[in-house]
Amino acid sequence: MTTLQPGLVDEVRQDASFNASACMNCGICTAICPMGLDHLPREIFRYVLLGMKDEVLVHQETVFSCLLCKLCEVNCPAGVHITENVRALRHYFDRNVFGV
Ligand code: SF4
Ligand code: SF4
Repeated sequence: MTTLQPGLVDEVRQDASFNASACMNCGICTAICPMGLDHLPREIFRYVLLGMKDEVLVHQETVFSCLLCKLCEVNCPAGVHITENVRALRHYFDRNVFGV
């Protein structure tokens, strides 16, 4: 069973920028990602906004597989700052999983 954590987005954006609420779930980012990351960005970002911490944590490998190439970001019609969000997620993993 998934435990919801309403303040998760505030935890993720603690020392970085995180904003994905404009995402329209159009799928352009998924279609053009050279790494074929089908869970990033739109799915994992949505989990953050919904407070679905467990679903975020199981996608650690995906979050760290992103090349930060911005191909998705420059083609995003909603102007979502995808790579900044990925960096925020990496910091979140650093604090909560790796203890850095
Ligand atoms: S391209 Fe932008 S708006 Fe479309 S799904 Fe990806 S993040 Fe959301
Ligand atoms: S920034 Fe990451 S998610 Fe976006 S296209 Fe590049 S590898 Fe894929």
